[in-house]
Amino acid sequence: MTTTAGPFAGTARLTARRRELELSSLADRPSVDLLVIGGGVTGAGVALDAAARGLCVALVESRDLAFGTSRWSSKLVHGGLRYLASGRIGVARESAVERGVLMTRTAPHLVRPLPQLVPLLDGLFRPGQAALVRAGFHAGDALRLSAGTPGGLLPRVRRVGADRARVLVPGLRGAGLSGALVAHDGQLVDDARLVVALARTAAQYGATVLTRVRAEEVTGTGARLVDTLTGASFSLNARAVVNATGVWAGEVDPSIRLRPSRGTHLVVDAAALGRPLAALTVPVPGSTSRFVFALPQQLGRVAIGLTDEDAPGPVPDEPQPSEAEVDFLLDTVNGALETALTRADVRGAYAGLRPLIDTGDGATADISRQHAVLESPNGVITVVGGKLTTYRRMAEDAVDTAVRLRELSARACWTARLPLVGAPGHRGSRPVPEGEVAASLLARHGGAAGEVLAVGEELLGAGYGAPVADGIDVSRAEIAYALTHEGALDVEDVLHRRTRIGLVAADTERARAAVEGITAKVSV
Ligand SMILES: Cc1cc2nc3c(=O)[nH]c(=O)nc-3n(C[C@H](O)[C@H](O)[C@H](O)COP(=O)(O)OP(=O)(O)OC[C@H]3O[C@@H](n4cnc5c(N)ncnc54)[C@H](O)[C@@H]3O)c2cc1C
Repeated sequence: MTTTAGPFAGTARLTARRRELELSSLADRPSVDLLVIGGGVTGAGVALDAAARGLCVALVESRDLAFGTSRWSSKLVHGGLRYLASGRIGVARESAVERGVLMTRTAPHLVRPLPQLVPLLDGLFRPGQAALVRAGFHAGDALRLSAGTPGGLLPRVRRVGADRARVLVPGLRGAGLSGALVAHDGQLVDDARLVVALARTAAQYGATVLTRVRAEEVTGTGARLVDTLTGASFSLNARAVVNATGVWAGEVDPSIRLRPSRGTHLVVDAAALGRPLAALTVPVPGSTSRFVFALPQQLGRVAIGLTDEDAPGPVPDEPQPSEAEVDFLLDTVNGALETALTRADVRGAYAGLRPLIDTGDGATADISRQHAVLESPNGVITVVGGKLTTYRRMAEDAVDTAVRLRELSARACWTARLPLVGAPGHRGSRPVPEGEVAASLLARHGGAAGEVLAVGEELLGAGYGAPVADGIDVSRAEIAYALTHEGALDVEDVLHRRTRIGLVAADTERARAAVEGITAKVSV
């Protein structure tokens, strides 16, 4: 049986060298308790859950950590409010509980409370709709309370006047504004960083985490693993196999039939909405339950989303927004703005695919909110659907299923008490006194911020703390750290998944030369 002992035992460092050594050690003794396929939030969560229970785990990701849907989300850590509206109380409560776990124990450094503002504007709501929203927010408060999340962390819903509303969202239309409802939810600084933190923590607990390794010929007892960097391959035996490949699940296990739906976001400068402090929530005209959100993000941006478009056919590597989606999002958000946004304001756009199960006869079953754990006739265990917020619960259910079906010997799940890399209580985390490092560095790295700077100073010398390019709030030290600790293998990994500079093409081009220079200098 392969174990991940040796030079990397107990460390959360992911590097090219570690990948190379662990891949060759796995090829030499190709047997594990659990093979996890897919390095999105679900697969990384499964690997952590299983490794922390003492199982021997290998996770393979064909491209990079967070390459798929996990980096295209709205980055919200939901309290489950929207599921209440459709009467799915169990799903709503599960979300609220998992939100509390993330915000108080496992990743409080990556999740912040986000005020969500619903403007009370003449003509924006249909009669009675604002009252429904208010009732929903109060129900959300009740959910938060029942999940045990303190009001100090997520304040309860309140009504504010028009002046305060325009402090929170300065770009709001003034005419006809009588005030706003303000509720709170959780927001990730970056969805991809949650995935990387999960994968690194899993590696620390002994999981072998391998990017650029594709699983082929997958069965319930193993797969052929292909190193996409060299083309070399070998067969791995596993007592259980978990397929966590999201919208690609049907390619790995043909008994699963998915029919994805696309969700698109636009990226605009925060300045275009007056640098909002809250997420603006605008109802979609003609719908009682759909909203478009303008969500403040890191790096001085706002993400405006989202759509829900049928996306049949082959699953693309990177889904592309349609022109009609761009128009729909701009038109909807403009209904609440003083100065309308135009296409010239759009600095970038991105789309992700939700997995819907195809039930045949043209119908789909929506599992994009509630997850499913399915065992196929050949024994592959697929975990699909759900959301970022509930990844931990999905992982627990998938590993429980593997343990039960394959009679694996494992302790009970304890990930609800397991702080991720950078969280308070994680063994590598060091408290950083407020004001001592840049707030953005702290928001992305938490208790690992000191380590990031130390790595930068050692490897880059003078200027390690400077921005990677003018006006881009990511330090040169973070670029180095992505390569020395976070498993980035090349410039694209750094630009698109360890940082989110890649969300705006113009920024990518401005930062590219510096990222290439640091990548060439830092060899691991
Ligand atoms: C537009 C949109 C917005 C969303 N917003 C939110 C939100 O705000 N909050 C929230 O909680 N949830 C949100 N969600 C849901 C959430 O993003 C997804 O549920 C979650 O990211 C799915 O993660 P995953 O790991 O299952 O799939 P993915 O992230 O897609 O990971 C699957 C991985 O498998 C890999 N892979 C595929 N085939 C193979 C193979 N043969 N071998 C090895 N690896 C392979 C892929 O490269 C990929 O990296 C949103 C979803 C969408 C679509």
